[in-house]
Amino acid sequence: MDDFYKLNEEEQAEFEKKRCHCYHCADTYKRMTTFIVCPECGNKRCPHATDHNLQCTNSNEPGQEGSRY
Ligand SMILES: [Zn+2]
Ligand SMILES: [Zn+2]
Repeated sequence: MDDFYKLNEEEQAEFEKKRCHCYHCADTYKRMTTFIVCPECGNKRCPHATDHNLQCTNSNEPGQEGSRY
């Protein structure tokens, strides 16, 4: 687990590149340290929060198709 805090410069640069909000694009470090929500509606259960290819549903209902919640 300590490895998450030992990013070298190359990994840092890679990390900066991955600015996408979605869970699908996030690396393990981001998943561990960031509470991922949809940037449009702010709901964690919105499918768009899980994968940027999915539509924002503007809903926080559980069990939405494509959502990891
Ligand atoms: Zn993405
Ligand atoms: Zn949304």
